[in-house]
Amino acid sequence: MTEQEKLSRRRFLQAGGAVLAGNAAGVAVPADSEASDSLPQTAPALHKLLRRAAVPTARGARVVVVGGGWSGLTLAKYLRRFNPAFDVILIDKQSAFVSFPVSNAWLADQVDLDFLSHSFFDAANNHDYHFMQATVLGFDRDSRRVYTEAGYVDYDYLVLAPGIEYDYPRIGVEDSEAQNLLFHRYPGGYVTSSELLTIKHKIQRFRGGTFVLTVPSGEYRCTAAPYERACMVAAVFKRQRVRARILLLDMNSGIKIKQAGFARAFEQLYGDYIEYLPSSLISNVDIEGRRIETEFDEYDFDDAIIYPPVRTSSLIEEAGLADPQSPQKAAKTDPFRYHLVDDERVYVTGDSRSQPFSKGGHTAHSEAQYVAEVIAAHALGHEVQWRSPQTMCFSAVDIEPLRAMSIITYYKYNQQSGLFAFDRTHLIEKWDTQGGQASLAWAEGMYRDMFYV
Ligand SMILES: Cc1cc2nc3c(=O)[nH]c(=O)nc-3n(C[C@H](O)[C@H](O)[C@H](O)COP(=O)(O)OP(=O)(O)OC[C@H]3O[C@@H](n4cnc5c(N)ncnc54)[C@H](O)[C@@H]3O)c2cc1C
Repeated sequence: MTEQEKLSRRRFLQAGGAVLAGNAAGVAVPADSEASDSLPQTAPALHKLLRRAAVPTARGARVVVVGGGWSGLTLAKYLRRFNPAFDVILIDKQSAFVSFPVSNAWLADQVDLDFLSHSFFDAANNHDYHFMQATVLGFDRDSRRVYTEAGYVDYDYLVLAPGIEYDYPRIGVEDSEAQNLLFHRYPGGYVTSSELLTIKHKIQRFRGGTFVLTVPSGEYRCTAAPYERACMVAAVFKRQRVRARILLLDMNSGIKIKQAGFARAFEQLYGDYIEYLPSSLISNVDIEGRRIETEFDEYDFDDAIIYPPVRTSSLIEEAGLADPQSPQKAAKTDPFRYHLVDDERVYVTGDSRSQPFSKGGHTAHSEAQYVAEVIAAHALGHEVQWRSPQTMCFSAVDIEPLRAMSIITYYKYNQQSGLFAFDRTHLIEKWDTQGGQASLAWAEGMYRDMFYV
């Protein structure tokens, strides 16, 4: 059977089209089947997609890791460490890694971009795996093949760690063009590094007026980050003596984490800047009119950072793996082993996971070491005992000097309810310079582990 027969052109283009559209903008956009049908049979790009990618021939069981974020980078390193016979390929569509953790402090000039930026080549060279820069379009579990824009790669094990996408329909923005416009004009800063650069320019150039920030509902990436960002934006306006009102529209009924600490910061440090509005359920955004609508009110703004609710990468939905019960369209996986319920060769980790662990870089990093051990053991016919991921999260509150607070937590599984809950939480809500320095030392340690040693 030829490749073209195995994966019908139309089905492939529909899947690929959707993923491409979604990833280009960090937005889930349905495939345009009419456009796909109008592509000529001989489109050169199609032939490129259906040939073997230019990667070295596998020297052992091949593990393909999709997504070079905190989860994928850690997995690629530890898979080789726990089973040196594995041949590991890490695929990411981006050319370099820019850290989201500590990016809020970077917005307020507490670190420079070099601190956040690292090379995938360094990680792959130092940890003896292959890196391939390409967008993954889909995969076929029968033939164990991953399709990318640069050709296909066969796998023995596949790890999906592609992170999150914005779910704009949940704030009333249904139209895909409007979603793209909203993403580009008022990016949330939680999916791509270009968003972060745009946000920094917005803050630096803001000359006064109303600046809106939003906190999404549901399980979103980094629970503390939107509150931390409000503090950092306010700190910059305060330093620059900009007459600004920051409207922090929270779709939740109250501050979701480090509540006392953030509430105190809003009042004591930024009382003249931050107006915190809980239970602000966003129902629409008028992009051209610069107006945001909630269930009961409307707010005009001069500029904004709009962080909508999030969902799992559409790569998972396009592969037909989304659990219909999951509000975030996550796959159905074994909660302890991370593989698809019907496939012990395919794993889902990091912020794409179905378990309700905090969507954090530290969580993804500690979990990835465990999952690497699980996969290594599976290849040798062993099992490893489940252990909880660890969540550790610092939040910068003030600058010059940098002051931060922190939380560490684990998870436990309740057999009766079948749910995970927090376990052994250590919360420090008093922000200080020790916390500020610890947050930078923590990030440096993480980058060292993922890229250098
Ligand atoms: C502002 C901010 C502050 C944060 N602060 C903290 C903090 O203090 N502490 C903390 O622990 N966490 C923090 N986080 C959260 C942390 O960044 C995420 O939880 C973490 O990045 C999740 O890792 P991941 O590997 O699952 O996803 P990601 O890091 O998003 O990586 C996913 C990767 O997959 C790639 N990808 C996606 N689709 C494809 C495709 N089709 N083909 C190829 N590649 C693809 C993407 O390019 C990306 O590199 C923060 C996040 C933000 C935005």
